Amino acid sequence: MAGRKPDKRNLAHVRTLMANADEAFVVVDHTCRVRVYSEPAERMLGRTRADVIGHDIEVIDAEGLPEAVRGALEGRKRWPGAVVLHVRDRVLSCRATRFDGADGPGVAVVLRDDTDLVEAQERAEAILAGASDGIVVFAPDDLVTYMNPAAAEMLGPVAHQAVGKTVSLDELLGTEPVRSDDLLGLAEPATPTGQTREVTLSEPVHRVLEVRTNPVTDRGGQAIGTVASLHDVTAEREIAMMKNEFVSMVSHELRTPLTSIKGYVDLIVDGEAGEINEIQREFLTIVQENSDRLVSLINDLLDISRIESGRIHLKLEPIDVADLMADVADTFRIAAESAGISLEMKSARGLPRAKGDRDRVGQVLMNLVSNAIKYSPGGGSVTMSAARRADSVVLEVKDTGMGVAAEDIGHLFDKFYRVDNSLTREIGGTGLGLSVCKSIVELLGGRIWARSRPGQGSTFGFTLQIASEAMVRTPGVEGPAKAKGGKVLVVDHDPEIAALIETYLKKRGYEVVRAHSGREAIELAVSEAPSVITLDVILDDGDGFELLQHLKDDPRTSEIPVVVLSIVCDEGRSLRLGAADYLEKPIDQKRLVDVIGGLVGRVGSPVVLVVDDDRHVVGVLSRMLKRRGFAVAAAYNGREAMAAVEQTPPDLILLDLKMPVMDGYQVIQEVKSAEATKHIPIVVMTAHRIDRSKTEILQLAAEHIGKPFSAEKLAECVEEMLAKEGM
Ligand code: ADP
Repeated sequence: MAGRKPDKRNLAHVRTLMANADEAFVVVDHTCRVRVYSEPAERMLGRTRADVIGHDIEVIDAEGLPEAVRGALEGRKRWPGAVVLHVRDRVLSCRATRFDGADGPGVAVVLRDDTDLVEAQERAEAILAGASDGIVVFAPDDLVTYMNPAAAEMLGPVAHQAVGKTVSLDELLGTEPVRSDDLLGLAEPATPTGQTREVTLSEPVHRVLEVRTNPVTDRGGQAIGTVASLHDVTAEREIAMMKNEFVSMVSHELRTPLTSIKGYVDLIVDGEAGEINEIQREFLTIVQENSDRLVSLINDLLDISRIESGRIHLKLEPIDVADLMADVADTFRIAAESAGISLEMKSARGLPRAKGDRDRVGQVLMNLVSNAIKYSPGGGSVTMSAARRADSVVLEVKDTGMGVAAEDIGHLFDKFYRVDNSLTREIGGTGLGLSVCKSIVELLGGRIWARSRPGQGSTFGFTLQIASEAMVRTPGVEGPAKAKGGKVLVVDHDPEIAALIETYLKKRGYEVVRAHSGREAIELAVSEAPSVITLDVILDDGDGFELLQHLKDDPRTSEIPVVVLSIVCDEGRSLRLGAADYLEKPIDQKRLVDVIGGLVGRVGSPVVLVVDDDRHVVGVLSRMLKRRGFAVAAAYNGREAMAAVEQTPPDLILLDLKMPVMDGYQVIQEVKSAEATKHIPIVVMTAHRIDRSKTEILQLAAEHIGKPFSAEKLAECVEEMLAKEGM
């Protein structure tokens, strides 16, 4: 059989296959003459079989084809098996393979028309190149496989050489690797996927990018890489910042005159400027109410601009929610009564403490209760409740008021949104309260919602995270009930406001000295030796913060407590520089007097630290001790007690033994084992039988008082002990 010419009929099926295939087939012999030329080859290469069979491959007008064929025939090393040919506007992929036939070697060429595929790819690339967002594609091992021109421009020179190399997204952005469990609380996958984050670049130019990474999967759902899209939000962020700065500047400018308006009207209504008649009182009350409204509007606007610009100062601490609800209930007791509303409170047993900023959470709760009362024109009831749900504490405020229609519920937390009906129009408001609540709750890591039906009341609720045991509140020291009076140096560049503060303080029996400049303030602080200084940070001859620093650095004035009163939101900075407290203008008369009273009272009053997990006991003892002229710090467990001891070592500790978190025995051990605190006398109060195994520890305490005891007896004991200490 060898050497026999193949029977033409035997090849019929091969011919048919070749004629109907999408690919074209060409076979050449060892002299490069064409032996096989299929029908699709005629279409692709433009020459007929008659033109080419028996002729040299050169006869086909396709640049690169003869070269490919010869390369294969000669079996050149590293000869690429596949090449791309451009023939008459078509893109052909060509594979030339050598074989050894009966008549010597030859080359089989397979050609495929990829024009449509290439065009589709070019179209896709043109679209990506035209996109204004940057796009970078990574293979699973961080190999950069594609980068569009927008991304290259955003990322600068580093990016240009990145394609084809292994470079992570973080290396391209110059950021720290993102751990996805930081964001989602989940385990960490190899590449961060399906996330959005904001990145600020300083090179090649300042840019804020919103970077989104998403996994790319094949049709079977297998991960084949990641695509990162970079959206330039620089302009948006700048506009938002300018808007916030504008709002806060305008609000500050409004606050200064309002401080005077509100302050002086309050004084006139209080009768400080002499008798006023009923009509005058009525008119002035209208001025007073409206200035209060303006103050709360400005406060809301400022809060929003602070939150949006990230300038809010949060003091995170464990919060006793039941206690906070009781405070809020006290604030609204009179308002609720006069609106014919019963105000109730429900708190689940054993509720854990929530993590938050007590003032800010109080602000949210007050806003919700105030709305509940305000939007219940027909009376009814308002109930605050707190319960634990999974890993959070849930607070709810439920009313029986007018309710909200379904279509409005989704918008209640939008800025300036108010339900549009005659009733709400009549009630009045700005539509800012709930949006401030939402921002605060979200900043604290919680969620807020509303449930309501028209005419059937509403329930507003929010969550707070549970405070971890490691989170400790540091109890503050409160001065005695009746401050003994004292000298206060008031530093304010605005003489009207200084005069206003002077009036407030003189009413309470304080002596006041005023300074309007930093230079004057320093002189008077030394020569007058005031008990407390109030300081506005805006001064004509310099910066109040520098003055504060100076006062704290000078040994003659460093011990004088300074209260910063400011329209600029600088609580964090003030406290860092050593201010004793921070109050915002317009000044709340009561808070100012309380703060000053506390500070003046503390000067020279012995400090008693009361430690008991029973809040009622702590409350009764604190009030009684303050009445007797002591300054008091209240702690509800051992750890808080230790935090208080560290902050301001007390002159005496009243200590319960059985407490959660850290018990009294441990407190005794810690206080008595440290050199700095071992002299502090401890009076143990206990209702329980004393643990025999711990009597040794108990002997370190100065005195024991068995519960129940009379508050009077305890006070006498404290007085005696302190007298012994020579206080
Ligand atoms: P404001 O009370 O100043 O209008 P808020 O942001 O506090 O602003 O509330 C937005 C809107 O939500 C209110 O105008 C009111 O229409 C509606 N709303 C809020 N609380 C209640 C409630 N407890 N009952 C009925 N409607 C309410």
